[in-house]
Amino acid sequence: MDHFDELDLSVKANKDTVCAICRQAHREDHLEGAFIGGFGDKRKVFVHYYCALFSPEVKQESVGWFNVLTAIRRGKRHKCAGCSRRGATITCNAPKCNRTYHFRCAAEATLPNDSARKAWNFRTNGKFYFCPYHVNTKTILEAHAKNTELLQNDENPVFPSFTMTRARRLIQQELA
Ligand SMILES: [Zn+2]
Ligand SMILES: [Zn+2]
Ligand SMILES: [Zn+2]
Repeated sequence: MDHFDELDLSVKANKDTVCAICRQAHREDHLEGAFIGGFGDKRKVFVHYYCALFSPEVKQESVGWFNVLTAIRRGKRHKCAGCSRRGATITCNAPKCNRTYHFRCAAEATLPNDSARKAWNFRTNGKFYFCPYHVNTKTILEAHAKNTELLQNDENPVFPSFTMTRARRLIQQELA
């Protein structure tokens, strides 16, 4: 947990505001939620609520938001597997899969020629994300978790604990 971002409520989002994570303005369907901010020391930036919440390193607690700036920085290095633009922060948790998405693209991604198959639903499936190619991996993980409570630390896969490492090993065995 490297830092705590104090919200500056004296600055407000406006019609020109763009999310510092996904780089998109507010859209009519409200999928990404409202803007929150401002974050940062000098220049204040805003992020969509869900772009922040579902970035794996970000934590929202009663005392505030953690690691939002870290997620913004990391997103700058990752192109989205859905739309090919930078600012992607949500990576598939299957072993060896590097697909990384924006929140919107992750929530809409389906297999090619298989749009009938449902995309990842963050509200019901949580933030331990699997891409459309590996969504079945989650089923395997859950089967293990039921007995051993392996998933108790799964909110934070960017900082893998022993628990998470072990879970991944079990998935690999299962897929071998
Ligand atoms: Zn966003
Ligand atoms: Zn995208
Ligand atoms: Zn994947």
